[in-house]
Amino acid sequence: MGENNAENNFQERDNALEQIATRLGVRAERGRRFAELTSLRVGGAIDWVLSPETEAQAAALVHEMDEAGIGWRALGSGSNILADDGDHHYVVLSLKELKGELGFAGERVSVPAGYSLPRLCIDVGRQGLSGIEGLGGIPGTVGGALWMNAGAYGHEIGTVTEAVRVARGGKVVEVPGSEVQWNYRHTSFSEGELLLGATLRLTPDDPEKIRARMEDAKSRRMATQPHGSRSAGCFFKNPPESAVGTGKIIDEMGMKGSRRGSAQVSPVHANFIVTEGEGARAEDALALAEEVRERVRREHGIELEYEVELWRANEPKNKPEVDDKAVEVNRKEPS
Ligand SMILES: Cc1cc2nc3c(=O)[nH]c(=O)nc-3n(C[C@H](O)[C@H](O)[C@H](O)COP(=O)(O)OP(=O)(O)OC[C@H]3O[C@@H](n4cnc5c(N)ncnc54)[C@H](O)[C@@H]3O)c2cc1C
Repeated sequence: MGENNAENNFQERDNALEQIATRLGVRAERGRRFAELTSLRVGGAIDWVLSPETEAQAAALVHEMDEAGIGWRALGSGSNILADDGDHHYVVLSLKELKGELGFAGERVSVPAGYSLPRLCIDVGRQGLSGIEGLGGIPGTVGGALWMNAGAYGHEIGTVTEAVRVARGGKVVEVPGSEVQWNYRHTSFSEGELLLGATLRLTPDDPEKIRARMEDAKSRRMATQPHGSRSAGCFFKNPPESAVGTGKIIDEMGMKGSRRGSAQVSPVHANFIVTEGEGARAEDALALAEEVRERVRREHGIELEYEVELWRANEPKNKPEVDDKAVEVNRKEPS
């Protein structure tokens, strides 16, 4: 009986969703998996992936889904997410098609949420605009970077954000950057809020100098982090009570290279968990992460907190209900 009810509810939801997507002209796909959509290349089936292409379309879409009570989560490039292997019964709103064009006006640039952050850094640098060159090596979209105030090498996106465009009541609304709290890898945007784009205010500088600073940040990153591997960046936050970073703690316990099935503690950077192979499983990455946490707890009395977001199947939320062990204040350092 319960199962039939659930099936009927999904049927109703699916019908409503198809109507909404058709009316708004948004691409709606079934049969996608998180393994295709996240940088760790693991994670189970997703009921629906919807890909709006314009800010107005995205704003109307979330409004209609909210009105219809349809649970959704925003996804950029999936470079900070570990989605579990289960069937995820909610809608993933993929922002990657919302990439449009950059709009330059003097020191300002307007950018849609789906635009690639590394691409943006190159493009503004070429225009002789400085302020985000340290962010050039952070994979992901501008929306994902805004959401968690991404930062590296002395630059944070919030510092240069003059305004953020968000979806409210079906419309695109501009929020001044000064009204947003830009904390360390954490912002005051609230659950269920969709970010559509931003206007950044940068500083004029010589394009050659900007390029040189970008190259410098890139080579520092290349020297310390695995590249070409499937990771989500740093897996755990640095413990506030410790003078030593998480990577060093794990390294000194001799865990570099430790394995659990398809997951491995990176031999290059001990705070990176990488996955390998076609059938890699989130379960392995989670089990390995828990093994690391257990040893750090036992040997150092430190409770490591997840820095990646853990997305559980069957959470009918608009935004991921972040596990209490998972990130609530994202702390990302280019270690
Ligand atoms: C190799 C590697 C190195 C990294 N180095 C760094 C680093 O130095 N510094 C750093 O800060 N991060 C780093 N990261 C982490 C990651 O790249 C950043 O967190 C990035 O900003 C995530 O962007 P994304 O588009 O992939 O977001 P996703 O991972 O797709 O999403 C992250 C969160 O943002 C939300 N979100 C995404 N887009 C929107 C939107 N438009 N509206 C509302 N919510 C949205 C999602 O719901 C989710 O909660 C690294 C990752 C990797 C793989």
